[in-house]
Amino acid sequence: MMEVVETIQSVRDIVKAARQKGKKVGLVPTMGALHRGHISLIEAAGRTCDFVVVSIFVNPTQFGPGEDFKKYPRTLEADLEICRKAGVGLVFAPGAEQMYGKEELTWVTVEKLTEPLCGRFRPGHFRGVATVCAKLFNIVLPDVAFFGQKDGQQGLVIKRMAADLKMPLEIVVCPTVREPDGLAVSSRNKYLTEEERKDSALIYKSLEKCREMIESGTKDTETIVAAMREVLSRAPSIQIQYVSIVDAETLQSLDKVHGRVLAAVAAQLGKARLIDNIVVDAG
Ligand code: AMP
Repeated sequence: MMEVVETIQSVRDIVKAARQKGKKVGLVPTMGALHRGHISLIEAAGRTCDFVVVSIFVNPTQFGPGEDFKKYPRTLEADLEICRKAGVGLVFAPGAEQMYGKEELTWVTVEKLTEPLCGRFRPGHFRGVATVCAKLFNIVLPDVAFFGQKDGQQGLVIKRMAADLKMPLEIVVCPTVREPDGLAVSSRNKYLTEEERKDSALIYKSLEKCREMIESGTKDTETIVAAMREVLSRAPSIQIQYVSIVDAETLQSLDKVHGRVLAAVAAQLGKARLIDNIVVDAG
């Protein structure tokens, strides 16, 4: 039987009981509006852990002013059904007052890794993400926490936070789940009009273009980025925020590709800000 709780104390009690039975605990942090991407994380957790906890919390501190915090889709009943079917043991769906006090004085800031890519366009975003994940890790005390490659920068930031702060858990990053035309599955895809939905496939096309160019020997990042931008420019509804090719570990920019590189795109399509990335081995 899946349990659904709102308080930190209930989570602590239930996870403690599971642990006393020798169960390995996996955590999948989410903001709800669950889809196939989230389900893949829950399934990955189920393969290596005995007790899977899903948190559902639209974290206010990772949204900037003018972003979609108020409009973010909230579909708790459907989410719970998905969790039940996927074999989740515990859903933690707290209110904001459980997670944040009246005045928060303590924040987790990961340096450097949070500066490029989304960090340039969403000031404070990764501070909110790192802080809420630190709280969730302290509440659930999981052995393993699962994240998606779709938010590649976030995965690196959380890995680095856990390593630097000596948090006793493993961070696993799982592959991006896509629609048949390549679009990364996302809660924000709901915002797209029919036209924008068609255009959005170009985001993954631009990433594939990057992969093809690297695999056929192109080294110059500027040349690859220009070709990716050309692909994206085929749809007028796509407003590019960034197209970047960076080192996949440090996120530092590169003049020439070498080693594992991360190609990442962020674009606004109407109301939706979409991100996607791939990792390519450039040899
Ligand atoms: P969110 O609810 O958007 O905060 O996402 C919760 C977790 O699901 C994050 O670790 C995301 O990276 C991951 N996720 C979101 N979309 C996908 C996807 N299409 N494939 C794999 N993981 C995803």
